[in-house]
Amino acid sequence: MLPDIENLLKLQDVDKEIRRLQDEVAELPKRVAAIEQKLAGTKAQLDKAQAGVKTDEAARRKYETNIKDLREKISKYRDQSLAVKTNDQYKALLHEIQFAEKDISENEDKILELMVNADARDKEVKAAQAELKEEAAEIENEKEQARQRTAEDQKLLAEAKGKRDQLRGGIREDLLRHYERVSKFRGSGIAEVRDHKCMGCQVILRPQTYNDVRSGTDVVFCDSCQRILFFDQKEELAAPKQTAHRPKRHHPKIDAPQAWYYRPEFAAAGEVFLCLTNASGQASRRVYDIHTGRLLGDILIREGNYREAFPEDITGSTRLNGNWSEEELDGFGAELPMVVLDSLHADLDAARLEAASGSHAKQAVTATPTEQAAS
Ligand SMILES: [Zn+2]
Repeated sequence: MLPDIENLLKLQDVDKEIRRLQDEVAELPKRVAAIEQKLAGTKAQLDKAQAGVKTDEAARRKYETNIKDLREKISKYRDQSLAVKTNDQYKALLHEIQFAEKDISENEDKILELMVNADARDKEVKAAQAELKEEAAEIENEKEQARQRTAEDQKLLAEAKGKRDQLRGGIREDLLRHYERVSKFRGSGIAEVRDHKCMGCQVILRPQTYNDVRSGTDVVFCDSCQRILFFDQKEELAAPKQTAHRPKRHHPKIDAPQAWYYRPEFAAAGEVFLCLTNASGQASRRVYDIHTGRLLGDILIREGNYREAFPEDITGSTRLNGNWSEEELDGFGAELPMVVLDSLHADLDAARLEAASGSHAKQAVTATPTEQAAS
């Protein structure tokens, strides 16, 4: 792995840690504020309960004064009743006394009602007071913890920032700028390549880009997300374990009207994909560069079916899955579309894995990865 890439990976770890610490430091006062808000709510509840007690007390005093006034009135009426001359006057006073007594009774009922209420009010106040006390203790505790945690985080943050500066010093400047620009927009600036894919954006790489990343000789960027790409050899070694869970590879039919092959050596072109097609008693052959997908040379047409017409191309080649119509092939023109190229590469990888694991030895008759010329 390039030293710049190694340093970028370390830098990415440190950057992540710095972000985590900064988030935590920003989060702590919010937690304290949330408890403070709860505390204010409890305090308002207590105030309301206490105000209720005061209102009840004032009402009770008013009723007691009423009773006292009414009793004085009754006493006055009794004195007057001793001095009345007529029966009618006596009756009128008696009526007044009865009326005042009824009024007293009503006031007494209200006082009784308040006394019953007072118990509930008292409980309400005591509960709010207890809650307030508990929350006040909690907030003090929380504040103290936040203070300690913040101090610790600030210390770690200072260390991480020092480490970050040191790492930045060890990375090529243009690369560092690129990394930081992409990080700012995408949250990370460097991504691993696995299964031909950029793990940052999940897009399949062009074969050439993939090979460049694997060779590890120069820094390569993802065409799609611009992240700096790296390839971890250790991951690749660990990968075959996972292949056991892969779905079984679909095997191409031996007599299909179209057959795709991978050929490791093709004249001066090196690795190629061959597309052999039968149509109207003739066989055609197209040759594509496996890295660029470019059509190499002219389309060759011979009499008969492709097995008879191009035996030298089939022998020693790896048969691949793939079927596109003649119109589609013509539409591809001088270069295979990325999606076609990806699909052929994926199938080639699958065929190689299959051959390496020897898992389908039983089916060798109909679908050997490497074919023999038809007899
Ligand atoms: Zn990407």
